[in-house]
Amino acid sequence: MKQYKYNLDKSSKKFVCPKCNKRTLVKYKETETGNYLNEDFGRCDRETNCGFHNTPTGEFNNPFEVVNIPKPKPSFHNFDLVSQSGRNYKENNFIQFLKTIFTETEVKEAILKYLIGTSKRWNGATIFWQIDNLQKVHAGKILQYVSKTGKRHKNEDGKSLIDWVHSILKRTKTINDYNLNQCLFGLHLINESNAKTIALVEGEKTAIMMSIFKPQYIWLATGSKQGFKYENLKPIKQYKIIAFPDKSEYADWFKKATELNILGFDIIVNDWLENTNFEAGTDFADVLLIEKKEAEKNKKHEIIYTDTENIINEFETHTPEIWNLIETFGLVDCNWNEIRKVI
Ligand SMILES: [Zn+2]
Repeated sequence: MKQYKYNLDKSSKKFVCPKCNKRTLVKYKETETGNYLNEDFGRCDRETNCGFHNTPTGEFNNPFEVVNIPKPKPSFHNFDLVSQSGRNYKENNFIQFLKTIFTETEVKEAILKYLIGTSKRWNGATIFWQIDNLQKVHAGKILQYVSKTGKRHKNEDGKSLIDWVHSILKRTKTINDYNLNQCLFGLHLINESNAKTIALVEGEKTAIMMSIFKPQYIWLATGSKQGFKYENLKPIKQYKIIAFPDKSEYADWFKKATELNILGFDIIVNDWLENTNFEAGTDFADVLLIEKKEAEKNKKHEIIYTDTENIINEFETHTPEIWNLIETFGLVDCNWNEIRKVI
């Protein structure tokens, strides 16, 4: 991979321009370390009114010398690890939580679809495997849930428990090194459908639950707010993508989506949740879950589907393309027997 030794910072961070004193300076960064050079080196965004642009010459002999920074080869897990983790679902807190909401069959289908695993890291912990469209296993994220609530388990200092399969393998000296190169959670599913539209959320749990609430769509997860980025979305560039950010994350994802769309992506960011009064961090599955519980309280079991349709109608207001998504998937009923054959 060829790169310049110094590059103008690609983030949106701006510094005070030494010429016009406005906070419009884009600094130079050393490519290899990502460290900023000092304020003397940068380009002012006010090209016409200021025009300050000082490249890192003088101090450095060859500022734009092309350096080769070999990207470390990504490591992958053996697929056997995934198979071996498909066990002990009675102990798996997340699966037990799902069973309090969905039918046995629905939960089984979700397990098979996303290849959800159980880990011994903590009693009842869950593994979310990141498997790509070429069936390569990029990572195994281990999270601990509370089976009654489906919320993340927090320890005494209020931190959620998280670990990674590669970290455990390193700690136990099973492997020496691992170049983590994450991919979207659920990416392997794009090969199992002819659909051209993908629904993208942040959390693995959200993707899994939404896949049960709305099985006609392919639900993928970025795994984190920062996971909504070019490297992760590259394999789904040719798809129509509808992103459903968690409540209060809309602005960030919208900004990122705008940048990506310039690069040829086709991403729509749905703002339905952002315009509700739910608390920050609420995701779409939380909303459907609240509705389902309300419906059960009222003993009107059919209402959940009615309300879901209402929400879909809300989508339409903000996301006209939702109907493409529904059409695309509505016509293709998931054939579980086929999926089972594949995995
Ligand atoms: Zn300036």
